[in-house]
Amino acid sequence: MEYTDLNEKITILSGAAKYDASCATSGSSGFSDSKGKKLGAAVPAGVCHSWTEDGRCVSLLKVLFSNSCKYDCAYCVNRRSADIKRASFTVKELADLTCEFYRRNYIEGLFLSSGIFSDPDIVMEKLIDTARTLRTESGFGGYIHLKIIPGTGENMIRQAGLWADRLSVNIELPTEKSLNCLAPDKSGKTILGAMNDFSGLSAEFEEERRKTKFLPQGKSRTDFFAPAGQSTQLIVGATKENDRQIVNLTSSLYKKFSLKRVYYSAFIHPGGFLKKNSREFNADPRLPEIISPPLVREHRLYQADWLLRFYHFNAEEILDEDEPFLDAHIDPKTAWALKNLDFFPVEINRADYETLLRIPGIGAKTARRILETRRSRKLNMENLRRMGAVLKRARYFVTAGGSFIERPDDPLRIRRLLSGTDGAGKQLPLFEF
Ligand code: SF4
Repeated sequence: MEYTDLNEKITILSGAAKYDASCATSGSSGFSDSKGKKLGAAVPAGVCHSWTEDGRCVSLLKVLFSNSCKYDCAYCVNRRSADIKRASFTVKELADLTCEFYRRNYIEGLFLSSGIFSDPDIVMEKLIDTARTLRTESGFGGYIHLKIIPGTGENMIRQAGLWADRLSVNIELPTEKSLNCLAPDKSGKTILGAMNDFSGLSAEFEEERRKTKFLPQGKSRTDFFAPAGQSTQLIVGATKENDRQIVNLTSSLYKKFSLKRVYYSAFIHPGGFLKKNSREFNADPRLPEIISPPLVREHRLYQADWLLRFYHFNAEEILDEDEPFLDAHIDPKTAWALKNLDFFPVEINRADYETLLRIPGIGAKTARRILETRRSRKLNMENLRRMGAVLKRARYFVTAGGSFIERPDDPLRIRRLLSGTDGAGKQLPLFEF
């Protein structure tokens, strides 16, 4: 049964969109005080946050156009076989709703996806129509992020890119084998094909834009193609792939399709946070029996992703065959440093930018400040701290004017001190460090 009341639709379709992490946090259960009261909560869906190219945080209305779906992806609450309330917006309803929320200052943009209720081109057309209506009829200048429906044609992607700031197609799972198992209606070839179409179109528009350096008068924003680029989402922990496979895949996606972001979404069982061994929990034997999302793993993957994008690491440097999982207790940059102690210590008064980026506790901003400041004077550890370096981590890996804070001699000891574990991953009691 499809719901027709607008309020019901908003509740159903914003709730149905909350598992897409492409523009939001995931897995948080929110906080409450001792009486269970809350001011602000992370679980009820509807508005999420995203970051624009220039680093601004924008709040987005995050909804599905429809949660009816022909597909039966095992990990998804909206799958065909799920016994849930179904609803669909009309283009006008959604455009009006977005404008109304925008006027009331609740949101600055729209994140729109949909279940696959019909042929992919028809579903994509609805999303494009909504964006086009917003831009042309409502004069909406806010941020729009549209999902590309896998299987839709290149022409549809071209249309979508004319009205949306960002497009994304979810890769969902790290391998074709996993996709066949949990999302048998989807194909890796189709998903990668859509990414490829996007990057081809993006390059084509960029080339065109370069040729017409100065825009002739009368050219509008529709002459640009999705200026905020494309992103994707990958579910972590629903299948058996290790972090090395995920990091390698991420790296090749960035290289091949110039993605702006890969979002990792810790697997949440579609039955919710159920008790292990409950009937619902075991309903689908293809899904792992984990009762809470692997949030630490998700967090470490984001850190590894950061190393790929901003710290010029290669995927092979982050993980190898012998240790295919990221260390849960220390960040991947520190883990790399501990495996490569012969690279350290680094003298901060001489090292180049690339070398500075390799030091745990020194970020890209601090590395730039170091280069700038040392033009006029010699740096010491105190200067380093003031520039934003985290000396708790950096202290084992740097010298300033030849002097150490601590010599990087014993990786197990450093790991223990930095992670609060015994070096084999076991958490130490607080009094031991
Ligand atoms: S295609 Fe799969 S993931 Fe997308 S809404 Fe349908 S069942 Fe869910």
